[in-house]
Amino acid sequence: MSSAEQLFFLLRGEYLWLFCLLSAVLGAVVGSFLGVVIERLPLMLNHQPGEPELSLALPRSHCSQCLHPLYWWENIPIASWLALRGRCSQCHSAIPARLLWIEVTTALLFCLMAILIPSPERLLAAWILVGFLLALSLIDWWHMLLPDALTQPLLWLGLLINAGSGAVKLSDAVYGAVAGYLCLWLLYWLFRGLTGKEGLGYGDFKLLAALGAWLGWQALPFLCLIAGLSGMFIGVWKIWRSGKQMPFPFGPCLSISGAILFIFYNSHIYL
Ligand SMILES: [Zn+2]
Repeated sequence: MSSAEQLFFLLRGEYLWLFCLLSAVLGAVVGSFLGVVIERLPLMLNHQPGEPELSLALPRSHCSQCLHPLYWWENIPIASWLALRGRCSQCHSAIPARLLWIEVTTALLFCLMAILIPSPERLLAAWILVGFLLALSLIDWWHMLLPDALTQPLLWLGLLINAGSGAVKLSDAVYGAVAGYLCLWLLYWLFRGLTGKEGLGYGDFKLLAALGAWLGWQALPFLCLIAGLSGMFIGVWKIWRSGKQMPFPFGPCLSISGAILFIFYNSHIYL
């Protein structure tokens, strides 16, 4: 056993509260980065010639109103937002609360997974998967978009992890990726043939392919079932709120389903 693994088992076994706290701090830092990805990636994809250059790193984090670059103490996940009471230190305009909620949600999810998953490699894989799924869900929710820049690396990572120490046989992961793509692709054309409408987007096929690569083809029926049920729940909630049927993104439903199944398959309940 390597010294990193020994430290993992010592911390998780003897000092679970400290392990949870460290996981939550890591989650908050990752959540802060996810906030940048969620804000900037759709703008980067819609970048028009002549507009100022934009990347995940540049320009530095700044206030969207007065444009002052944030000092280090204004950039501490969760703590800075609370200390500044959600307002810019210079012009006092509101800092979007969604940035705080992304950091808090990521911190809580990282902490929950640290409690549930007893293997260091699987826990690291779960943190990576949930980070990607959170970014994809929120971008899809706000922009109806599942960027290839996230779905494609997610698929390759799933295959790579299962080629190494993952829980799924590599051949099952490859069949999962192909079958995941094909089943939604078929559903898309069937629905389009029957109704003349587009019920799903190509991003959904790629996301289910990625989840198939992470979970293997055997998980696909459960994945589709949980995603379909959460889609029905969101659809009914939307009708209840607005009084009419409205299109909504399917990416968050697939993501919720994928995260639940990955955590379930890798948690000590199942091992
Ligand atoms: Zn400002």
